[in-house]
Parts: sequence; structure tokens; C-alpha cells
Amino acid sequence: MESLNNQSDFVLTPQAAFESQAEVAMNWRLSTFEERASRLKNIRTWIKANQTQIRAALANDFGKPAAETDLSEVYPVISEINHCLKNLEKWMAPTSVSTPLTMLGTKGKLYFEPKGRSLIIAPWNYPFNLAIEPLISALAAGCTAIIKPSELTPHTAALLQKMISELFAPNEVAVIQGEIEVSQELLKLPFDHIFFTGSPSVGKIVMRAAAEHLTSVTLELGGKSPVIIDQNADLHDAAEKILWGKFVNCGQTCIAPDYILAHESVLAELMMELKLGLQKMYDTEYKGIEESADLARIVNKKHFDRLMDYLADAEHRGASIAFGGNSNAATHYIEPTILTNVDDSMKIMQEEIFGPLLPIRTFQKLDEAIDHINSKPKPLALYYFGNEKTRQQLVIAETSSGNAVINDCVLHYSHPNLPFGGVNNSGIGKAHGHFGFLEFSNQKGVLKQRIGMTTISMLRPPYGFRTKQLI
Ligand code: NAD
Repeated sequence: MESLNNQSDFVLTPQAAFESQAEVAMNWRLSTFEERASRLKNIRTWIKANQTQIRAALANDFGKPAAETDLSEVYPVISEINHCLKNLEKWMAPTSVSTPLTMLGTKGKLYFEPKGRSLIIAPWNYPFNLAIEPLISALAAGCTAIIKPSELTPHTAALLQKMISELFAPNEVAVIQGEIEVSQELLKLPFDHIFFTGSPSVGKIVMRAAAEHLTSVTLELGGKSPVIIDQNADLHDAAEKILWGKFVNCGQTCIAPDYILAHESVLAELMMELKLGLQKMYDTEYKGIEESADLARIVNKKHFDRLMDYLADAEHRGASIAFGGNSNAATHYIEPTILTNVDDSMKIMQEEIFGPLLPIRTFQKLDEAIDHINSKPKPLALYYFGNEKTRQQLVIAETSSGNAVINDCVLHYSHPNLPFGGVNNSGIGKAHGHFGFLEFSNQKGVLKQRIGMTTISMLRPPYGFRTKQLI
């Protein structure tokens, strides 16, 4: 089929975009490694040539520092493409499975066929990365895609539209911008796969809509990712890692450490390390953290107000601000803030924080920390700091989370050979590399029999005594 005109020329409705991709999706079932690789390479070239525009869009959307844009929006996408290019040919190849005695004479193979037309719904917090990384998996698998970027980051959404219109015809990949209504229109359509990144509450809406057509889903959701700091942790090391993981993107990260469960024997030293670490990261000239160019801002007033409400509620219920607490409503600035004396009655311990507030609770026995985590919905990530192997293994074995990291945090996102995703409330399905490729592929089992051979001849009627022998 001829490519349609450049898509920046006109605005597509969800229905028109979806229908226009039907024929290409059929053709792309036969696409070769070279064709898929060339689409990925074009994306890589575009990103490298437009890095300044990407930085500007993110800075305009929520004051994201250029270095953080490079590190968390550009670099992960480029390395995902590189990883795909290195491995895709192997992933695409049908694989043979072993033949049991009862299937003697047959050959079994797994084929990885593109699911077809996919829908990618992206959130605002890493608006470039989380729209393009799923697209890489979709294209690697041979699917077409419609991307619905978040309306809360309009500069990045506009840039995504420009990028995709320069690289693809809309019957291949299209960007459809808009508010929730547009998302809902898209969700009415019988896509072959939906890859959604966002909150658990909207994840349920997406899954309900997908059920209408029995469309498969990948749900990359959120929740509260806890950090355990055990009695024998290296506190300087732990503090440095947690501070970066928590405050990068101003805490607006799905796998940010949400709260700390610290062994009571380490609390005092941990607080000291955290305070010194914050100073070192953001306030080296003692002008106050607000002056730092290295801290992003809260995305909008609604989220600013939500976070200030958590803070007020926590203080009202007896929490102490050990560090920070300052804010500026005009610029959506919230100072990195550490709270102690928190308990589960507080909103800050019930809702996903998604901002620069870090509450710390203590425990006496490791079992208490494990029980606390197990009493909550399963988190997207769980972090454990401590150097005793048996205690590390106990935490991994006795808790459930999408991913877990020992003696670091957030880092697992960048590991190309590990699946990334949640479990139950924090998500369904896995992303990245081979796992992302598989989400957009139908793993089709194909059995090849020889003419004249059949095991069925032993099984078909008259059954007589043969079935008795089978049991
Ligand atoms: P969100 O769920 O509010 O929105 C995500 C997308 O869904 C947006 O494009 C939005 O337009 C659309 N949407 C919102 N309401 C909708 C509705 N009622 N019907 C249909 N579509 C709707 O999430 P957000 O605020 O953009 O992102 C923050 C959440 O995403 C957090 O919970 C965070 O943990 C999670 N998240 C998860 C990951 C991950 O990889 N697991 C990554 C980033 C963010």
C-alpha cells in the first residue's frame, strides 16, 4: 500500500488512524529483520539530530534539567534501540522445541508473529522515553502503532507528533494528541495489543475497555515502592543511591523509592547521611535548594496541591519534618523533604507520593518490615540495603514485587536483560528488550506432522481396552 501523506498535514481521528493501519499491519507481518532494523535506526538518527529540541520540550514542560533529560529520556531510548538491533534477528527466528516420545515423527516450532495494530498510551512523567520505548518494542515485533501522549506535557507531545510525522506515514505509526476523551475513543477500537503506562486506577479502565475486544494488554503501573535499610547497611552508600533515585525528576518516577523502612538502630546516622547528601547534590553554594538548576519542578498545580496536602496532613497527624518543607506555588517548587514519625494513618503512607517527599518509618525486626510490605498492594519495585546474604534472600523470598534490587535503587530500569514491570496492582506484563518484543508478538506454536503418520490412530474409536491401558 502507498504511504499516506506526511501526517503533520492533517489531524487524524482515532477511528481513521486505526482503519488506515490495517493493510500495513498485514504487510508488516512479513517484514524482514533489515526492514525493522531500518525503522529503529531512523528513530535513533532523528533523536541524535534533535537532542536539543527534546531537552527544550522537557524543560518547558516541567523544568527538567538537560542532564536528566539526556540520562533518563534520551540515553535509555538509544540503548534500547542498540540492544534491539544487536538481538532482533535472533528474537525473530522461529525456535524449535524438543519432541516427546508421544509426538515422535512430528516437529514443533515457536513462531513470533506480530500481533498487528497496537495502541501505546503514555504518561507525563518521562513523556518522551515512555512513548518511544514501547514503540521500539512494537516496531521490533513488526506491529504498527498509534501513540497517545500525555496531555499534561504538551511540549513533548507536540515534539513526539513532529518526530513521528517525519519518520513514518500515519498508516504505519501515528501520534494522536488529546485529553482523556481521546484516550477513551481510542480504547473503544479493537486493537491487537494495548501498551499502557500510567496509574493503577486508569490501568483498570484500560483493562476493562480491552476486555470488550479481548485485546491483550501490557499495563505498566505505579504504586508505593518501599526501601528497607537494614541494621548492617552501608549508610553512606545507601543514602547517596536513595537520594538520587528519589529526587531525580523531582520524585516523579514510577520506581522512585516511595518511603523508607529503616532498622531503628540506623535511623540517626541515616538521617545525617541523607541531609549531608542533599546538601552535596543541590546546595553546594549554600544558596538554598530552590536556586539549584539540577532539580525539576512539579508538573502542574494539581499535583503541587496534592503533594502539599500530603505534607499538611502528615504534619497535622504528628509527623516531623527532618529536612526541607519549603515550597513555591508560583513555580511549582517543592524542596526535597524528609519526614520522620510517620504512620499508616497518613495520606503520605497510603497514596503513591510521586514527588520529592520521603517519609521514614522504623522497624525493630526484619519480619515487621516484611509484614508491612505484604500488607500493602504488591509494589512495582522493592529495594533492600544490607550486606547479610541470608537477610537479603529472606526479603526477596518473602515479598512480592515487580522487580527487586539489593543495595541500589532504580538502576534495574537500565538492565537490558531483565524484564521491567509490575505484578497485580503495579502492572501486568513486562517491558524492555526481549520481554518488550514478546509483549507485541503472538508466540504461535506450530506443529508439523508427516503425511500418513498419526498418533490419533491409537486413540480414536473403537476405544475398547486401549484407553484402559493409557491410564
Ligand atoms: P495517568 O494514569 O493519569 O495517565 C496516563 C495516560 O492515560 C495519559 O495519557 C492520560 O491521558 C490517559 N488517561 C488518563 N485518564 C484516563 C481515563 N480515564 N481513560 C483513558 N485514558 C486516561 O498517569 P500519569 O499521571 O500520566 O502518570 C503517573 C502514573 O504512572 C503513576 O502512577 C506512575 O507510577 C505510573 N507510571 C508507571 C510507569 C511504569 O513503567 N510502570 C512509568 C511511569 C509512570
